Parts: sequence; structure tokens; C-alpha cells
Amino acid sequence: MLKSGERWKSSWLCREGEMPTPMRGGLKEKTCTKDRVIIFRSSFPTTPKTKGKAGKVRIPRTGFISALTAILFGVGIFYFHKKRLASIVRLTGIEFISLGKYARSMASRIGIIGGTGVYDPKIFDIKERISLSTPYGPPSDCVQVGTMDGVEVAFLARHGSGHVLPPHMVNYRANIWALKQLGVERIVSPCAVGSLKEDYRPGDLVIVDQFIDLTKRRDYTFYDGARAVHVSLADPFCGEMNAIFAKEAKRLKIPHHVGGTYVCIEGPRFSTRAESNMFRNYADIIGMTLVPECQLARELDMCYTSLATITDYDVWAPEPVDLPTVLRVMSENVEKVRKLISATLPKIPVKRGKCACPHTLKDAGI
Ligand SMILES: [Zn+2]
Repeated sequence: MLKSGERWKSSWLCREGEMPTPMRGGLKEKTCTKDRVIIFRSSFPTTPKTKGKAGKVRIPRTGFISALTAILFGVGIFYFHKKRLASIVRLTGIEFISLGKYARSMASRIGIIGGTGVYDPKIFDIKERISLSTPYGPPSDCVQVGTMDGVEVAFLARHGSGHVLPPHMVNYRANIWALKQLGVERIVSPCAVGSLKEDYRPGDLVIVDQFIDLTKRRDYTFYDGARAVHVSLADPFCGEMNAIFAKEAKRLKIPHHVGGTYVCIEGPRFSTRAESNMFRNYADIIGMTLVPECQLARELDMCYTSLATITDYDVWAPEPVDLPTVLRVMSENVEKVRKLISATLPKIPVKRGKCACPHTLKDAGI
């Protein structure tokens, strides 16, 4: 029952050209802007309680009618959108997110987190740019939903448009949560790394299978509340997706390594020579973005695969690589990853069943 002065709050997402419902109460109307999703919030103020003749607290009839109408309308909206409702999440109070049509239309349920160079604008047909809010703040950028070679994908620029976010400032929780809201079940995450071993050469692709976390101050979990959840990360990457990408990399004759240990450092600075030599004892490649992105995906039962491309040898190498060479290799790497992703996406099964990723949370809670 609503108390005196309380407001019944709810939120709707509305797309361009649509109007939020119900158009009543204290609805604060905004205009849907192009390529944007605006959250509308409405409030239904209740009439203050008054005392009846017998001295008992009584809710006036108008208050009952308003509250009842609001509840019935809410129930109606829920059932009307029942099949379309992708998720009901808590953002502020109760929030109904009617994003089901995106989730349903994403046949492969694949999300790509990477730089803008990863996808080819010629083959990535963008249908929507969706701006989302999450309980953890805004993601790095709006999510671009479209098709790539006939496969529906959701693309998110990890460092924001214009590469404005350094690795230690990326809101990893918001990024993963945003993709989850859109119904993404599998994440492909290309990244650039340095090499710690001679045989991991600049230009090579590494399909990562292990990581070592040496980051220092990031938000590592969605479960920092009352419930204790300990997910297994013995094998942090999706074995099924790794195998499919490895097979395609071989077919396309892309120089690659099936497996490699990625040491993730905090950044934004690079390693000292002493650190780099130490890392060589237990890792193959080094970067700054894998953690906590990988483990957060696992915490939400999502599949995650990391496609790391080597730009140069880290500072342990006696001869530093010159900048023009690094830039050339980076450009070539982007082309390889783009080619690999484009060829592999159609071969990733819509239905998950060959990996344990969807069952991560089954025995993780205490
Ligand atoms: Zn998986």
C-alpha cells in the first residue's frame, strides 16, 4: 500500500517515433531524438492520508482509484509485452525495459567489444544506435545493433567513440551489463597486446585461453552485495567459441596461436624492463583490458572469447620496435581480425550447448 506522500514510479523506454504510455499522471515528456532511446519516467502522486471519523487512518477513494488504476495498467503493460520483455531489471525502483524485440531479433546473440576499426563499415549494416543506462552507470558508448554478413550483432566501442577512455577508466561492468540487457549471450573481444615470448611474433593472433590478473583498482564483480557468489574461472574463456575461431583462423591461414596466457596490468603506463622480464616467466602476452571484462561476462553466464593481436615485443626485447612498424602491424592486425570475425560469425551456433558458460551460476552461490 502506498504511504502518504509516496510516489509510484516506473520507467519506460521509448524509441524514436513512439510515445510512451501511459500519457497521464505526472509524466515528464521528452522527445525521442534520432538514434537515441530516451527513458521516460512518470509518477502518480497519491492523495495524502486523512483520518476518518473513527480516528483510523483512511486512504481516500481517489487514492485507491489512482493506485488501482496504476497497478492494473502496469499488469496490463506487463502481459501485453510479456513475450517481448527481455529482462526486468532494477535501475531506479521498478523499471520495465521493453528491449525484447532486439533480443529476439539477435539470432546469434553475439556482441563485439572492440575498436571501431574492428568492423568494416561496408559490411556492418547498422540498424540502431541504442543508448542504455545501467545500475553501474553508462557504458563506454551507445551500442550499435546491426547485421554483419547476415548475422545480427551488437557492437560496443570499449574505449568510447574517439578512443577517449584509457583502459583503467573503462566502465567494464556497465559495458557487459548493457550487452546482457540486449540479449547478447556470446561476446567476441578483439584487443591489441604486446608479446612476452620470441615465438609470439608481432602480427600473430592469439586465441587466449588463460589470464593472470595484475590490475589494481577496478570493479571486478556484479556480486558485491549480500549474496556471496564465487564463479569458477579455471577455464575463463568459452571453449566452443575458441575452437570455432581457431578452425577459421587456420582455414584463412592467419598466423595464430591456439592458447596463450595474457597478463593484464593496470596501466595506463607500460611495464618497466624488470617487470617485463618477470612477466615472461609465466605469461605469453601482455595487455590492459582483459580483466575484469572477461570475468564479468562469466558472472552473467555469457560466453567470452578474446582475440588478441600482437603489435610488438614488450620492453624485455633488446631492440625496441620503431613506431612506424608498430602502426603498420596494428593496421594489418585490424584487417586480419575483421576478416576472421566476418568469416566466423555465421559459423557460431545460435543455440549454446557445447560449453559450460550458460551454467556458470548454477553452483556458484552460497
Ligand atoms: Zn560458451
